[in-house]
Amino acid sequence: MQLRYNCRLDPQPRHRAALGKAFGCARVVFNDGLAARRDAHQAGQPYLTDAELSARLTAAKVTPQRVWLTEVSAVVLQQALADLNTAYRNYFASLNGTRKGPTIGPPRFRSRKDSRQAIRFTANARFTVLPDGKLRLPKIGDVPVRWSRPLQSEPSSVTVTRDSAGRYFASFVVQAGSRLLPEAQSVVGIDLGLKHFAVLSDGRKITAPRFLRRAEIKLRRAQRALSRKQKGSRNRDKARVAVARAHARVADARRDFCHQLSTALIRENQAVAVENLAVKGLARTRLAKSVHDAGWSGFVMMLGYKARLYGREFYRIGRFEPTSQRCSACGVRDGPKPLHVREWQCPACRAWLDRDINAAVNVAKAAGLAVTACGAQVRPGSALAQRGEAGTHPTSRRKAA
Ligand SMILES: [Zn+2]
Repeated sequence: MQLRYNCRLDPQPRHRAALGKAFGCARVVFNDGLAARRDAHQAGQPYLTDAELSARLTAAKVTPQRVWLTEVSAVVLQQALADLNTAYRNYFASLNGTRKGPTIGPPRFRSRKDSRQAIRFTANARFTVLPDGKLRLPKIGDVPVRWSRPLQSEPSSVTVTRDSAGRYFASFVVQAGSRLLPEAQSVVGIDLGLKHFAVLSDGRKITAPRFLRRAEIKLRRAQRALSRKQKGSRNRDKARVAVARAHARVADARRDFCHQLSTALIRENQAVAVENLAVKGLARTRLAKSVHDAGWSGFVMMLGYKARLYGREFYRIGRFEPTSQRCSACGVRDGPKPLHVREWQCPACRAWLDRDINAAVNVAKAAGLAVTACGAQVRPGSALAQRGEAGTHPTSRRKAA
């Protein structure tokens, strides 16, 4: 199983200059290859093979127009061609229908204005992680790395990118064997919600951390500021960079949070069940934005691969499981409830149910996990006591909720 490790790089000015040159050379090699294939196609000649493009690259390096390509690692240039070849293969597979999913267009020319610049070093390039933690890249130098965790094994490749906020990252690919954890006793169902990021069948409600919420507020503010700036003005360019930065910070904070939460859940539980996001049916409503902002899909993906990695069971509950319509204590189905109804009493078993926890318990049960419904039951009065309405009759409670 292949895993990616992403971490931030802190290149010094000389590294930035060398990386800028490498990004540029990789772009030129990609574009030259693309132009050669397009020209051949337009001239009615056969498709230029991967080997032919590679030979042309070697020949180009001794011409005066392209001699500067020798200043960067040859592997970086080969990998740029490999990217082009992959792009073509995906395009052809999409054309003849062997590739599922949305249709893919033909490869497009890369620009220095693209928001993301990338180069890849494979093991052939002899990149090394030095004992002091720096990353040695051929013809670039020893670049400082902000490691978030150690690499589990020797990386087979590293991709260095620069994003639109001007930040540099390294993404290592490592081969990871399954690291089985000792068997855990508990299992858990998870309901992904809007008010809380996740609600667990054991009754815990998990809210996104404050720094993430703050970063999101700053992002929205930056986006509003950008929309007020005049097109083509210098201030607009500045505002755009500010948005890119704020965006990157939100993405980072969210990823860290999702990593921590998914690792904890996989460690604690032998089996984890989560509702398939399509079930939520929120994606097409006005809630869509917050749904996407909540970053659930990344979180669910992390749960899946960590479960595989650590030998845990992972379930996604499919469509049409009425998680809010069924009492998790006795199983009686008492129909849909509007979103504002946060808790109710089961008409059959008289249990008081918390909407989110009830859903999480139902998710676990739908996956065949043995969880108790105790967590889903609330004591009457607990939720409304804060609003000074404790002691009201259950029927009026329901109206008030
Ligand atoms: Zn019931």
